[in-house]
Amino acid sequence: MLSALRLVSEAADLAARRHSGQQRKGRGNEPYVNHLAEVANLLSIATEGKDAELVAASWLHDTIEDTETTHQELARTFGERVAALVVEVTDDMTLPKHERRRRQIIDAPQKSPGARLIKIADKISNIRARIVPQPNQDERDDLIDYLAWAEKVVAGCRGSNAVLDRMFDETVRAARSAL
Ligand code: ZN
Repeated sequence: MLSALRLVSEAADLAARRHSGQQRKGRGNEPYVNHLAEVANLLSIATEGKDAELVAASWLHDTIEDTETTHQELARTFGERVAALVVEVTDDMTLPKHERRRRQIIDAPQKSPGARLIKIADKISNIRARIVPQPNQDERDDLIDYLAWAEKVVAGCRGSNAVLDRMFDETVRAARSAL
């Protein structure tokens, strides 16, 4: 088994390579890896650096959904818990977007504690990316729509980490005042 530092470092390296060339939606053409770094850092802060597997899983949380990466591959390199966490936060991409969103709301309370924390951090990062100066009508509509959905998902995820819950609430407040 890899040491804690090696585990996180290997996860960051694999995530950066697998998502290379991908960009986030929205303004600025931010590299996708910025999102992964933000989610991993939020989890590191929220758990005071005590859960390396959770931080590694955060780096990898979109690899199965968005890149050619499998559960088996992750399990071999990072162990079963990391692989299982990534699978838990992976949407079924064969379903239409509205159904994937609906399932996230319904499924959230049944997820493992670690997967629920990744979900909250993911939503924080995605809301932050939608807060832009002088938003146009499409950007405002997108933020309003995303906020409404993210709050429903996070309602089923919160309650186990006060730091992350507070950061989510602060992010929602910042988003509302930016509208
Ligand atoms: Zn994500």
